[in-house]
Amino acid sequence: MNKSMLGKKMKAAILVEQKKPLVVTEVQLPEKLGYGQVLVKIYYTTICGSQLNEIDGVKGHDKFLPHLLGHEGGGVVEEIGPGVTTVKPGDHVVLHWRKGSGIHSATPKYKWDDKTVNAGWVTTFNEYAVVSENRVTAIPKDFDLRIAPLYGCAMPTAFGVIHNDAKMRTGDSIAIFGSGGVGVALCVMASLSGAYPIIAVDINDFKLRKAKEFGATHTFNSKKVDVKKKILELIPEGVDVGVDTTGIKEIRELVYELTNADGTTVLVGVPRKGENMCIDSFQLHFEKKITGSHGGDAQPNKDLPRLIRLQQSSRFDLKGMITHTYSLDKINEAIRMVRTGDAVKCLIKM
Ligand SMILES: [Zn+2]
Repeated sequence: MNKSMLGKKMKAAILVEQKKPLVVTEVQLPEKLGYGQVLVKIYYTTICGSQLNEIDGVKGHDKFLPHLLGHEGGGVVEEIGPGVTTVKPGDHVVLHWRKGSGIHSATPKYKWDDKTVNAGWVTTFNEYAVVSENRVTAIPKDFDLRIAPLYGCAMPTAFGVIHNDAKMRTGDSIAIFGSGGVGVALCVMASLSGAYPIIAVDINDFKLRKAKEFGATHTFNSKKVDVKKKILELIPEGVDVGVDTTGIKEIRELVYELTNADGTTVLVGVPRKGENMCIDSFQLHFEKKITGSHGGDAQPNKDLPRLIRLQQSSRFDLKGMITHTYSLDKINEAIRMVRTGDAVKCLIKM
């Protein structure tokens, strides 16, 4: 048996200062696990918009600096703390940011020389992580761990947006703005739900090709064509479901405008502080709806097993969603790659 990693040093990427590259360094794990905590060896993580927002300080001042980050990963349970019942050492798990089943534990504190490094209930940009029991869900051992990070955020969010937020019905039309991880996962889910047409909009042709590969029936580059005109040519009354994954003010407004009179606009992208949208709310007094999504209200303990079962039945293959792979040492390069827009999901291999 290998000895416990608790109290030992490991490599981690820390956010020390907003708007600066992450610092890849050695930090010391907590000495022991508290009630409801689980020690996980991280194998893979991906980067998503939330971490870019944290780095950029989109929500303003960050009182937790320096801190670990990352909220979607795949790993193996090493040890469990008191009270933990839903996973055991050796279990393969998805690490996710939404609460699943099990205990909601206290957050861990790591050491970086004499400094304390904060962490949330789940972090994944580190070789080992002490996480809250309710942020891990066991998955089959033959499930590809490289794909697991997609089930920590993009896939359950997309599932929840389609089924919980939009309450989509077979044959509904949908327009998805932004073809990043969540946008492409939305194409997969919309396609499985029998939506038509599935319109993907982005400013990057590479991402739009990915959206098409994963189920979009029509793609429009908003830098090259008048998207409003194109969508209304296809569906003159507007789409049944309009989804924004970008958080950009003008796009949120356009998505609402392009949603039909009894359709639903779902806002998934987090807006920048102070960038308030301006809409004609008149139709909201009738059948039209607009809602902000919180991870699609997905329930990882219930939703992940069903999605993984579906993937294992070969209804879809997510491998192509990972467009680049980096080591943890190169995480800042990966972040730069995500920012260029020429990537859907960048995988970090620990
Ligand atoms: Zn995410």
